[in-house]
Amino acid sequence: MSETLFTKIINREIPADIIYEDDLSLAFNDINPQAPVHFLVIPKKTIATVNDIAEADRELVGHLYLVAAKLAKSMGFSEDGFRTVMNCNEHGGQTVFHIHLHVLAGKPMGWPPYSEKLKV
Ligand code: AMP
Repeated sequence: MSETLFTKIINREIPADIIYEDDLSLAFNDINPQAPVHFLVIPKKTIATVNDIAEADRELVGHLYLVAAKLAKSMGFSEDGFRTVMNCNEHGGQTVFHIHLHVLAGKPMGWPPYSEKLKV
């Protein structure tokens, strides 16, 4: 599995604004925030995309959501609410190929993200 800049953040080879760490995961503020609160929760294990999540990763991926919820509570926005997003490949808008859960909060979010009328 090829190294991404998130591996370098995990290994402290490049700096990041780390807000949480445990044995399985790391959370840090997004360098280009799209909301008043925008951080990423990533597994320490390298998994390139959602397509690469294996059965054995079930607990690990669930753990990312538990970390997101724990941080939402401790940072005081769990009741107001927040958005979690995991982009996959080109159409999903993925740019870093190490799965990461975006956590966006601090204002009401728009929906849907794709606004052109769908031709099914
Ligand atoms: P995605 O487009 O879903 O793959 O998300 C990648 C995210 O990583 C983007 O929101 C970027 O702003 C963010 N990002 C890229 N480099 C860094 C970095 N060095 N530190 C923190 N966030 C980063």
